[in-house]
Amino acid sequence: MKKLFLVANWKSNKTVSEAHSFMISFLNRDFITWMHSQDTDTNGNKQIVICPSFTLLAELDKLIKQHAPSFLLSLGAQNMSPFDKGPYTGEESAAQISEFAKYVILGHSERRLNFKETDQQVEEKVAIARKYQLEPIVCVQGKNTPVPQGVHIVAYEPLDAISTGQVGEPASPERAEEVAHFLKHERHIPYVLYGGSVDPSNVRQYTSLESINGVLIGGASLDPVSFSQIIQNA
Ligand code: PEP
Repeated sequence: MKKLFLVANWKSNKTVSEAHSFMISFLNRDFITWMHSQDTDTNGNKQIVICPSFTLLAELDKLIKQHAPSFLLSLGAQNMSPFDKGPYTGEESAAQISEFAKYVILGHSERRLNFKETDQQVEEKVAIARKYQLEPIVCVQGKNTPVPQGVHIVAYEPLDAISTGQVGEPASPERAEEVAHFLKHERHIPYVLYGGSVDPSNVRQYTSLESINGVLIGGASLDPVSFSQIIQNA
């Protein structure tokens, strides 16, 4: 059975108390029972990753350690400083993030658009992430976005599919498969995810595709019920 990454990108949403309420609801007894049942040969294929703001990482780390098996549920950051630790006011370094997170999303289109992040910066961040054993999830917007050497997980997120501020139009499964197949076979990326307007009703259309190893979810991951439905339906 293929490995599936179900990655929540919370963007700049949730206060500590809102994140706490989400977790209490998300990690309810039925879901914990279901998660434990995943530790089998047939179902132990789903890796859930929640990527909150930096301000929430410590609190969520504590809750996850108390309530969830770490092989199944872990944390990621949504960005990272392009510099190592040191005198870089206002930046969070890979060393700091790696205290709580296993993953880091890099090169999201909202960062490229709003913060003018470049392919060169994404490459520098990938190198520093690796130094601190953080696994980068690099977002590409199409076949032409460069992928730095040694990246294992790429999320294909077509610009018109992401619901940035408005409702996006999810990519057709045929388009998602075509780009994912290219990334896997021409760029040799082991795990390709799809992202853009994924919800409980359409997630399976993507996770059932041969070249897709999971989904990156924005808006629909903010609600604990819809996020757990996505995980169960994937
Ligand atoms: C995203 O921004 O990475 C994303 C997938 O957003 P949404 O699911 O809201 O389209």
